[in-house]
Amino acid sequence: MTRAILPLSVLMLLIGCSTDRSRIERAVRSISVRSIERYVAELASDRFMGRKPFTEGEEITISYLADQLRKIKFGPAFDGSYFQKVPMAEITSHVDEILFSKPSGTTLRFRTPDEAAVISPLESGHITAVDLPLVFAGFGINAPEYGWNDYSGLDVRGKMVIVLVNDPGLYTGDSALFRGREMTYYGRWTYKYEEAARQGAAAVLIIHDTEGAGYEYNIPRKSSISPRLYIQGHGQNNPLCDFTGWLPGDSADRLLKACSLSTDSLRAEACKQGFRGFPLNINASVSCRNEIRYDESSNVAGILKGSRNPDECIVFTAHWDHFGIGESENGDSIYNGAVDNATAMAWALAAGKAFSSLGKRPERSIVLLFPTAEEAGLLGSLYYTEHPVIAMENTAACLNNDLMLPIGRMKDVMITGYGQSELDDIASRLAEKQGRYVAGDPNPHTGMYFRSDHFAFAKKGVPSLYARGSIESLKYGKEWAAEQEEDYIRNRYHRPSDNYEAGKWDFGGIAEDAGLAFSIAFELSFAGVWPGWKESSEFRNLSPRRNR
Ligand SMILES: [Zn+2]
Repeated sequence: MTRAILPLSVLMLLIGCSTDRSRIERAVRSISVRSIERYVAELASDRFMGRKPFTEGEEITISYLADQLRKIKFGPAFDGSYFQKVPMAEITSHVDEILFSKPSGTTLRFRTPDEAAVISPLESGHITAVDLPLVFAGFGINAPEYGWNDYSGLDVRGKMVIVLVNDPGLYTGDSALFRGREMTYYGRWTYKYEEAARQGAAAVLIIHDTEGAGYEYNIPRKSSISPRLYIQGHGQNNPLCDFTGWLPGDSADRLLKACSLSTDSLRAEACKQGFRGFPLNINASVSCRNEIRYDESSNVAGILKGSRNPDECIVFTAHWDHFGIGESENGDSIYNGAVDNATAMAWALAAGKAFSSLGKRPERSIVLLFPTAEEAGLLGSLYYTEHPVIAMENTAACLNNDLMLPIGRMKDVMITGYGQSELDDIASRLAEKQGRYVAGDPNPHTGMYFRSDHFAFAKKGVPSLYARGSIESLKYGKEWAAEQEEDYIRNRYHRPSDNYEAGKWDFGGIAEDAGLAFSIAFELSFAGVWPGWKESSEFRNLSPRRNR
């Protein structure tokens, strides 16, 4: 059962008299463009050395954040400390090839990483698989709310499954199938790996296509030969496949042709309701050597204890990490990450400061969390949600931001993953008060909702919001705003040129976004308010609150 949010009239009673209202308005007005700019100028300066985990840049960043939390009167969240150690394992996999052999004796050899991108996520030095039977499992999706189970009737234990990327909605364009062209979590590669492991498969390979993945094969190819970060002991609480990876389209065609099948016709079949997967008459052998290095990084968090229900909370998240010092471009080798993610850290600090300037503590606690290793796959936030300050079932919501462009005030509030939870309704109502309108992501097929820290909370069933002005500039309109975003993505995203430019940036929009986030969190800070997931959300069944 979804728990409805409180009706507005009840909320207004809770929020109370006009002196309270003026207190709230004062707190919103206290959010200043200048203090946001100061945070960004500092966090994106060369002194922070690109804020890379495990480096001196980490030490400088996390102690700066702890100082700022102290200044805005947020106490240490973790047993007297602002820091939560996150033990990690860095694994580099070495795989030469994967062999597929038919009972008739025919063998196909795929060289890595060009013809297959295969790794082992195990914290183990040598991993070998000999003659794993192959099973084609459609999209590899088990989604009870859509009445869809590609694994139904299949025994994949100890076998290798081959699955398609994305979900049937994309390829059919049928909006009644999953969410049409908008990617659901079932379409993400991380989900495919998790589900295959839950089904007991020993290995899983995803057939790549650029439209479905949202990127070229080059991306999984490169990551398969690069060091990857994991939370140490990540296989202890979650099942893992011994091998995971991708097959580029032409390799998949070659493999399936050897089984007298074709990728296109299999995909067309797999898009039909009631499709059944089947064993392929071919076996796979692969072996891997893993180089493993252990190290520790830190999440940073401060807490403003609630006055009435301190053991319930609302969490703000904005990752602190970026890429450090690396390959130089135009003489610049420091990846300062001004937009990714200094602006969002400033947004969180500004909203937090508004809470401490209220004069009266909110009923519930407010947690400002700056996770580490977001860029490596949301590791800090995933670790936090396993080891939270306040239990996940007592966390009413997560409000996250990432990649906030300092391009001035906007007419819109763009919600990434619009339609997931009742937080959208609260955001819409409060955005309207700011004279803004709420819009969905113009590119929902890229699955951005699954690619920043709020998602770690969503996976635990905590309604999570990723919202900021993005689509329509108050002064210059939509086209101009789209140009700014395109320019950032093309010329600065994950590059040394993601720099803070003094005097050129307009933080008015980020201040307004911080005001909105504060107002949303303020409504949620009252005891008894539990926003729910929407009926069609894939996270609804995970909600720790749904049976209360
Ligand atoms: Zn980011």
